[in-house]
Amino acid sequence: MDFLHPTTWEEALAAKAEHPDALPIQGGTDVMVELNFDLRRPPALLDLGPVRELARWETLPDGTVRVGAGVSYARLITELGDRLPGLAQAARTVGSPQIRTRGTAGGNLGAASPAGDAHPPLLATDAVYEVESAARGVRLIPATEFYLGVKRNALEPDELIRAFRTTPAVGPQYFSKIGTRNAMVIAVCSFAVALFPAERRVGTGLGSAAPTPRRAYAAEEFLAAEADWDADLDDAVAERFGELVRTAASPIDDVRGTAEYRRHALGVLARRALTWAWHDHRRGARECA
Ligand SMILES: Cc1cc2nc3c(=O)[nH]c(=O)nc-3n(C[C@H](O)[C@H](O)[C@H](O)COP(=O)(O)OP(=O)(O)OC[C@H]3O[C@@H](n4cnc5c(N)ncnc54)[C@H](O)[C@@H]3O)c2cc1C
Repeated sequence: MDFLHPTTWEEALAAKAEHPDALPIQGGTDVMVELNFDLRRPPALLDLGPVRELARWETLPDGTVRVGAGVSYARLITELGDRLPGLAQAARTVGSPQIRTRGTAGGNLGAASPAGDAHPPLLATDAVYEVESAARGVRLIPATEFYLGVKRNALEPDELIRAFRTTPAVGPQYFSKIGTRNAMVIAVCSFAVALFPAERRVGTGLGSAAPTPRRAYAAEEFLAAEADWDADLDDAVAERFGELVRTAASPIDDVRGTAEYRRHALGVLARRALTWAWHDHRRGARECA
């Protein structure tokens, strides 16, 4: 197996163009498991670790946060937890301290597992993924269009993920996950919510709920139409929101849980996460009054 070792982004793009079959490796927390268990035998590995451009994040002039694909979960928590609280909460649930030190949201996007924990908060906050090839330059792909099937994403063979872009939180955000135990566990199902109080709207993201991570549009539209943003959350509204999230899911039975359990659990997670977020929203409004 060849080992390609670019040190700049341009070199990485050139290497991917020349070797489209080369498998990118960032933190290696997915790739090394696949190699060790002989689930994959690529002709070459493309090591992105030394590419410093991927390990940076910045705030763009329009206020958007642009986070390099090589920023670890540990750094998302410590450096971006205030701006991206939903994603940071999800990052805290990933693996163990070792996995969070090596693993990246960029690698989660590359793997595109329906159970990946970065996807729901990125969907809920309207994230856009920046991918690039040497031949065609940058493509910006909305998160909602990136996931094409189980572990399949919209990347072309000569493209690499450069960064994700999202707006810093303008309201409360929560991520909630069910596993078969409390830590070091792949989600049985997960849910993220982000409130946008000034726009009177909410974003959602569902994980382990369908072949791809997805949003619950009907639940979002229901809340935008029915919720009174100047009052405490009505129990019936929260309940209906949970039901609509549940019906947005099309999960499967597998070793981690049954489809029926997942649907039920998603409804509960959604109701709870919305209730926590709404509580924070109302407390913020009272403190400002
Ligand atoms: C013990 C353990 C526990 C785990 N727990 C969790 C968990 O709780 N939640 C969770 O979501 N995941 C978990 N994972 C899976 C893994 O840690 C995550 O998916 C992580 O985000 C992968 O990031 P990475 O940088 O290590 O990716 P890598 O392993 O380097 O790469 C993952 C995939 O993305 C591709 N890739 C990487 N970077 C790029 C790029 N810039 N452009 C294009 N493609 C790219 C690779 O080719 C590969 O297909 C766990 C893994 C282990 C081993």
